[in-house]
Amino acid sequence: MTTTPPHPDLSCALYSADQIQKRINEMADEIARDYGHEEFLAISIMKGSFIFAADLIRCLSARKAQPVLDFITLSSYGSETSSRGSISVLTELTLPVTGHRILIIDDILDTGLTLHTTRHLLYERGAKDIRTCVLLDKPARRSVPIEANYRGFQIKNVFIIGYGLDYNNRYRHLPYLTTLTPPPSP
Ligand code: 5GP
Ligand code: MG
Repeated sequence: MTTTPPHPDLSCALYSADQIQKRINEMADEIARDYGHEEFLAISIMKGSFIFAADLIRCLSARKAQPVLDFITLSSYGSETSSRGSISVLTELTLPVTGHRILIIDDILDTGLTLHTTRHLLYERGAKDIRTCVLLDKPARRSVPIEANYRGFQIKNVFIIGYGLDYNNRYRHLPYLTTLTPPPSP
């Protein structure tokens, strides 16, 4: 039996490209204020946060902050729309972490497992201090007690695509955030 994939709700953006940029600028104000002109390591969790990270660090640059960007890939949901419950590193950082201030950048804080695991891993490697930054937050789904230091939008328990976020590797290219909807009834 084949299952019909959910459809993207392309007619109605949850947050438009303009709304996203406006909020990222506000977040950059806050982050730049906190870090000042001191260099820090901005770690973008792949792949979902790559567009958010690209926009955020350019907003930070406009405010004279000094992020040094690196990437880490963690296990993803694959084609699922809910967490499997354990996280592993698929591709490693390229820069040393020991003694550095770190800003972890992720697309969405859901159960909290990804941020919690990443933070723990980086402290074990000798990070000096770690802050966390997410574009979206689904507090209703939290299974690990963690909150982000910087948060773009708080949302309900819906599955989001666009602006870097995927379903089965599709839809990352959409310039806005939207939801997946159930397939229309025949
Ligand atoms: P957590 O470990 O907090 O449960 O989940 C974090 C990761 O799950 C995110 O980095 C993201 O990759 C994925 N994720 C959680 N919710 C969504 C969602 O609504 N849409 C998409 N595309 N990915 C999600
Ligand atoms: Mg992710």
